[in-house]
Amino acid sequence: MRVVLLGPPGSGKGTCAKIIGEVYGVPVITTGDMLRVAVVMATPLGVTAKGYMERGELVPDDLVNDLVAERLREPDAVDGFILDGYPRSPKQAEALDSILKKSGKMLDHVLHVNLEYEVIIDRLSARRSCPKCGAIFNLVNKPPRATGKCDACATTLIQRDDDKPEVIRRRLEVYREKTQPLLDFYEKKGEIKTIRGDIDLKQLPAALRRVLGYG
Ligand code: ADP
Repeated sequence: MRVVLLGPPGSGKGTCAKIIGEVYGVPVITTGDMLRVAVVMATPLGVTAKGYMERGELVPDDLVNDLVAERLREPDAVDGFILDGYPRSPKQAEALDSILKKSGKMLDHVLHVNLEYEVIIDRLSARRSCPKCGAIFNLVNKPPRATGKCDACATTLIQRDDDKPEVIRRRLEVYREKTQPLLDFYEKKGEIKTIRGDIDLKQLPAALRRVLGYG
């Protein structure tokens, strides 16, 4: 099962990706997380990516294309994957197309997780994450049990540098300019399925099942 998730930053792609990945038993490949690891490890890719990410800009296509091509060659991704945060520009969509063509494979679904920009800005400004285990909280609708501490491992929660209001606005502009055109690109190839990104967490698995037509 091969699925691409499209949608603005903060729309809820990651949450959908996790659910779908578990249903199909395939890895979720999140370029944002891979790049954040590279930054922390200060690899050559991370050193270059850092500035782009802090400004809310896209990391150059060639670097991300290589990163994803390599990840897709790993054994766990050979029979399927959920791509979260890639492709994000026409060049990346073409690169993915050529990887798939070379291996004679096709995408099964392109899922558009959509949400109004005003809701996204409120949501991302309230997002906090655990730097140790990666758990995500939201001060408004999913607060941690103890203020500022991770429910799972009690580590002090942090706000991602790029979740500051001015960077959020830049990320949304970049989405509109670079990623939104991909909706047309994939629409021409076949049907894009759309789901709202603010469906209640309890209802989300069933909603995804209806939209993608499994189970
Ligand atoms: P969001 O979708 O909420 O913006 P991500 O975690 O997906 O957050 O991405 C964070 C940052 O990582 C982006 O703003 C960008 O700088 C970089 N990034 C992630 N995926 C890509 C990609 N496919 N191409 C270029 N840059 C990327």
